[in-house]
Amino acid sequence: MLANLNDVLRPAKKNKYAVGLFNAVNLELARGIINAAEATRSPVIMGTAEVLLPYGPLEEVSYYLVPMAKKASVPVVIHFDHGLNFDTCVKALELGFTSVMYDCSTDSYEENVRKVKEMAEIAHSYGATIEGELGHVGDNEGSAEGSSHLADPSKFFTDPKQAKDYVEKTGVDALAIAVGNAHGAYKLPPKLDFNRIRTIANTVDVPLVLHGGSGLTDNDFRQAIKEGISKVNIFTDINVAAVEAEFKKFSSMDKGLIDLIPAAVEAVKQESMKKMQLFSSDGKAGGCVRADGTIPAGDIETLTKLVTAEVIKYFKKV
Ligand SMILES: [Zn+2]
Repeated sequence: MLANLNDVLRPAKKNKYAVGLFNAVNLELARGIINAAEATRSPVIMGTAEVLLPYGPLEEVSYYLVPMAKKASVPVVIHFDHGLNFDTCVKALELGFTSVMYDCSTDSYEENVRKVKEMAEIAHSYGATIEGELGHVGDNEGSAEGSSHLADPSKFFTDPKQAKDYVEKTGVDALAIAVGNAHGAYKLPPKLDFNRIRTIANTVDVPLVLHGGSGLTDNDFRQAIKEGISKVNIFTDINVAAVEAEFKKFSSMDKGLIDLIPAAVEAVKQESMKKMQLFSSDGKAGGCVRADGTIPAGDIETLTKLVTAEVIKYFKKV
């Protein structure tokens, strides 16, 4: 069923688990991710990012992501990550993405607030959710997701007081924070500032997002989630798992690409399942009914059941 960030992250924040965002720039990735979510009964966030568009154009990606989310038996958010341009974010919303991140983290604080507040109003008018970033998450060298390598990342860590002001002024539904994390593969194990995560989680009431999750230790994840992270972004780990599986299969390949496709789907599934279990989002698919009793958009099956039950009740009365 198609969901937005609020549907999956509010229960996650309340019950101290995290939901993974996995980028799906092709069909193998998308199939592996959905298979993992259904196998573990986990809510999931799936999407792409502006820097990944050369590998799969936004419109084409939306043609499989949105229907696959609707058809899935678990809540699936279709999220456009690190939108860098106003027009691309609006296009994602028009194409049916249920969530956007408008990344203005390299702008001044005032500009970040002004631009993200405007986008929040637009996203909400589509029934979609929005994630903002405060502080700046840089990139490890060679990252597929960007080339913003920071000499001293701690200078860009998120300030808890400013985070509160930012969330109130912009109306974002989730906040990406910089606490020692970075995109891409880490050369040295990163040191996360867990105290800062806890302080921000206690200061703002929206779910917090940890970007650059690939390469953190299992204990890092457990602790970060315990301190208040509700969404973790993963790309490098599934990106590499897919190609390693294809490489392994290559030696015994006899029909060409169609030998490699199932190997990639299965590797993405296994790697995503590991993360879902580690984040404790497994078994939580049923916990995403909204607080007011309504159900996420696109869940036709549940809607049909509810309407049928009402019709039966009505005819029993007359
Ligand atoms: Zn990111």
